[in-house]
Amino acid sequence: MATRVVIVGAGVVGLTTALVLSKHRDLDITVVAKHMPGDYDIEYASPWAGANYFPVGTPGSNLQKFEKATWGELDRICREVPEAGIHYQETVIYGRKKDAGTATGQWFKELVREDAWFKDVVPNFRVLPKSELPSDCDTGTSFTSVCINTAIFLPWLLGQCVKNGVTFKRGILTHINEASLHHTSGSASIIINCTGLLASKLGGVLDSNVYPGRGQIVLVRNEPRVMVTVSGTDDGDDEATYIMQRAVGGGTILGGCLQHGNWESQPDPNLAQRIMQRSIDLCPALAPKTGKVTELSVIRHGVGLRPMRKGGPRVERERIGGNWVVHNYGHAGYGYQSGFGSAWEAERLVNDILRERARL
Ligand code: FAD
Repeated sequence: MATRVVIVGAGVVGLTTALVLSKHRDLDITVVAKHMPGDYDIEYASPWAGANYFPVGTPGSNLQKFEKATWGELDRICREVPEAGIHYQETVIYGRKKDAGTATGQWFKELVREDAWFKDVVPNFRVLPKSELPSDCDTGTSFTSVCINTAIFLPWLLGQCVKNGVTFKRGILTHINEASLHHTSGSASIIINCTGLLASKLGGVLDSNVYPGRGQIVLVRNEPRVMVTVSGTDDGDDEATYIMQRAVGGGTILGGCLQHGNWESQPDPNLAQRIMQRSIDLCPALAPKTGKVTELSVIRHGVGLRPMRKGGPRVERERIGGNWVVHNYGHAGYGYQSGFGSAWEAERLVNDILRERARL
C-alpha cells in the first residue's frame, strides 16, 4: 500500500516539495493549505516575490547548499520548459561599502562580493571595472541569472503535481497533527510542514525564531532591459533598490525593503514613491521620455512578508504526538532560489523515515 503523506502549505516551498515527492510512485500525497496559487494575501509570501536567483547564503551554511543545488534545476526549466514562466536575465549587482552594517547590507553581504562563491555556478560572472560603476558604488559584478514570473510558475508547479497524482485541498490547521487527515480519510504516515511565516503560530510548532521581513514592491509595465540591484540607499537602513523583469509579460518588479519584525500589510505610499524614483535613477530606461515617476505605468502596489528565521531555513524531522513531521520552512527572501535544494533535503529525510520503518 502507498504511504500517505500530507504536505501543509502551497507556497513555492510546499509546491516544490510536493513536485519532488510526487515522483515517488509509492507515496500518496495530499497538499492542504489555507492559500493556493491565485490568491494574494499578506499571509502568503510566494506570489509577492520578484522572483529571481540572487544567492545570499554564507559559505558552508545549509542555505548556500540549497541555493547551489537549486541553480541547475532553474537553469534546466528555463531552457526546456518555457511555459513554466522563467527566463534568463543579464544581471548587475552594485555594492556600497557604507551599507555593510545595515539590514539590506547584511542581507546582500554574499551577493555583492566580487569573489562570490556562486561565481562558478551562474554563467558569465564578471567583476566590473571602476569605470562601469555608478559614482556612489564601490563594487560591481555582472552575471546571467533568471527571473521567475510567480503568477505563472506557482500554477505550473501545481499543475505538474496534479499530473503526478497529488491531491489538493483547502484547509486551515490549528495544530500540525491535524494534518494527519489525508484525502483518503486514512491517517497520514508522514506530515511535511511547509507553512512559512505561520510556523510561528501553528500549534505543535510555534517556532519563536520565525518572524516577518516585510517587503514592499511596485509592479509596472515599463521595461528595464537589465536585472539590477544596489545593496542600500541613503533613504533608510532597511531600504534597497532592485529591478527585475518577469518572464512572459509578467511586468517589472521594483523594490524594495527588508523591514524586520514589521507585520504591516498595506503599502506605504511614501516608500512606494521612493522605490519608483530610485528605480528610475538607477535604470533610466524605465522612464526614457521624462525620467519621472509619472512615466511609470503601475499594475499594482504590493506587500509581502518574507518568512525570516533566525538560524536559517529549518529542514529537519521531528516526532510530534506520535507522527513523523518533516519541517521545511523559514526561507526568508530565498524560497525560489533555494526551493529545489531544500525540497531534495526534505525528500532525503522522508526516505530515511521510510527506510527505518521498513527495517522495523
Ligand atoms: P508561503 O508562500 O507563505 O506559503 C505558506 C503556505 O502555508 C500557504 O499555502 C499557507 O496558506 C499555508 N499555511 C500556513 N499556515 C497554515 C495553516 N495553519 N493551515 C493551512 N495552511 C497553512 N525569494 C527568492 O528566492 N527570490 C526573490 O527574488 C524573492 N523576492 C521576494 C520579494 C518579496 C517582496 C517577498 C515578500 C519575498 C521574496 N522572496 C524571494 C521570498 C519568497 O517569496 C519566500 O521565501 C517564499 O515565498 C516562501 O514560501 P513558503 O512556501 O515557505 O511560504
